[in-house]
Amino acid sequence: MPFSSIDTWVFDLDDTLYPASSNFFPQIAERMGLYVAEALDLPLVEAKKEQRRLFLEYGTTLSGLVAERGIEVDAYAHFLMQVDYGRIPHSPDLVEAVKQLPGRVLIFTNGFKEHAEACLDQLGFARDDFEAIADIRTIDFKPKPRPIAFETFFAEHSVDPRRAIFFEDSPKNLRTAKDLGMMTAHLVTDTAWGNMGLEDGNGFIDHSVLDLTEFLNDTVLKTL
Ligand SMILES: [Mg+2]
Repeated sequence: MPFSSIDTWVFDLDDTLYPASSNFFPQIAERMGLYVAEALDLPLVEAKKEQRRLFLEYGTTLSGLVAERGIEVDAYAHFLMQVDYGRIPHSPDLVEAVKQLPGRVLIFTNGFKEHAEACLDQLGFARDDFEAIADIRTIDFKPKPRPIAFETFFAEHSVDPRRAIFFEDSPKNLRTAKDLGMMTAHLVTDTAWGNMGLEDGNGFIDHSVLDLTEFLNDTVLKTL
């Protein structure tokens, strides 16, 4: 299917709009472990195991904390954001490429909107460069890769998945996206979570992307 059939460009946030090689996200993962340790009064090693369990069982640590502990979501977001956003590179060429995409451009993340905004500021985007940021609150704490997360997102933003492409580093999320009819672009990383879900092949991946800016400029925009 050609890119000219796409009218909605959907981007994951973490390790997608900024590169995994920036090593930014591990700081957030570290804060999640710390939060669990403090909230559940566990030693850090135990807390990391518990965080991992919640992540695997619920899809995000947050969804597990909400379901099992009823935590205060805004305070959790604030706690996680005490990291160095300066590790995310200013990316004027990426901003320029995204602005040239014909159609609607949205963000669909399992994270928090305020975190997404901090990342976008650092990359150099203006707030209106994206039509919307769908975050974990807007999908009712039911995260990707659950089909309900995508269905809620499609309904809320009137997205026709057959005319939409999803850029994302998590293969599991791309598998659902493809099942529901989206074109898929996989941001290739060397992170553990970026490779989970490739065990049974990669037939659900339409495009493998090593560098997002290059891909948009050389593969997408040139063919439109
Ligand atoms: Mg991601």
